[in-house]
Amino acid sequence: MKRVLLIKYGEIALRKGNRALFERQLANTINSSINDENVKVTREQGRLLAEDSRGDISLAYVEKIRRIFGVHSICVSQKLKDADMSTIKSAALDVFDAVEKDKNMTFKIMTKRSDKQYPLTSQEISAQVGEFVLQKYPDMPVSMKKADIVIWVEIRNFVYVYADIVAGVSGLPYGSTGSGILLLSGGIDSPVAGYLMAKRGVKITPVYFHSPPHTSEWAKEKVLDIVEILSNFVGHNKLYVVPFTDVQMYIYKNLPPAKMTLFFKRAMLRIAAIIAEKEAANCLITGDSIGQVASQTAQSIAAVESAAVTPSGLILPIIRPLAAMDKLQITDIAMEIGTYDISIRPYEDCCTIFIPKHPETKPNAKIIEKLESRRSELLSLYKNAAENTEPWGSAPHPARGQAPLTPFVR
Ligand code: ATP
Ligand code: MG
Repeated sequence: MKRVLLIKYGEIALRKGNRALFERQLANTINSSINDENVKVTREQGRLLAEDSRGDISLAYVEKIRRIFGVHSICVSQKLKDADMSTIKSAALDVFDAVEKDKNMTFKIMTKRSDKQYPLTSQEISAQVGEFVLQKYPDMPVSMKKADIVIWVEIRNFVYVYADIVAGVSGLPYGSTGSGILLLSGGIDSPVAGYLMAKRGVKITPVYFHSPPHTSEWAKEKVLDIVEILSNFVGHNKLYVVPFTDVQMYIYKNLPPAKMTLFFKRAMLRIAAIIAEKEAANCLITGDSIGQVASQTAQSIAAVESAAVTPSGLILPIIRPLAAMDKLQITDIAMEIGTYDISIRPYEDCCTIFIPKHPETKPNAKIIEKLESRRSELLSLYKNAAENTEPWGSAPHPARGQAPLTPFVR
């Protein structure tokens, strides 16, 4: 018998066609997070298996693995040398012995049999193992409906027996569902939007629009610090800093003040789309939440949507994971992932001359598009800004793929 970790991955199991790809991706992420040459994560019939070639696996790895996107739960299991019933029974008894219990608790045995060649059915195995445990614990009540202790027997390529299940953060393996450009402002919302998309498996590339001297170096530092925190979950990440001053000044001088924010937003989306093409990203991600400010009404969203097009004409979806969340929900997640304290540092990402006194809340998309198209100089300003965009590398973080746990634990 040897202690191993049997890893369940929830949602990936639903993906029939490319399940193997997802499994491999998750196994790679876990392997690189553990980073121990003696521990290997391999595929094992609908599960992943982490085992140490030297013997029992260290329980310290449970904490690391449970924070990786895509991990639903971790079963701290015994892997049996043989699959015969006497070995299974004594392993189940050992596992049961080790469980903390009192005499009022109920128990049951549950069997999962993916090896359909096994000579007994799941029910027969559970019944025989249950009888065996009862011989040593005759006063322990069995409850099939609501047992306090469940001993699991899983018959796969090998046989596994366990009682302890530790919840993971779920989600999908990072990078397994495409990639997106995250418009990251340093406020409370956009870091949360990026985190939620990363949790859905989207690789995120953050882009920040910087307008010196109207926005300070401190504002940029803030965004860099946020990227550092996000790298805890997604590994090495760079930040693209877009020189946005010329674009903003042009819009400020040449377009109607009440609509200014919408033109800024369109400019950001257009430049982000140029970067998306370079990065082969499939979508843009923003921290918009419906109704939060004037530029986040449905009408305002309609007026900026058509700007998300790459130079070669590919329409990019703008994903707004916070659309239906209220500020309290967003703030809770920001606190949980550790970006909140940085986001509330008092360095605004926009100075007051760029904030209209009376912003339009119900713009007409057609008029906005027409006004923008009359200003053909804007296109070369967008191109220049994208060309002069600099990547800022954040150091690779040792805690790659580590998500916080509290709000997501069962
Ligand atoms: P946040 O809290 O993310 O700053 P917000 O509530 O301040 O959002 P807006 O300023 O309207 O709202 O911005 C909406 C979204 O536009 C942001 O969530 C972000 O995705 C994007 N955005 C705004 N300013 C910038 C910027 N300077 N750089 C990159 N993205 C930006
Ligand atoms: Mg903001």
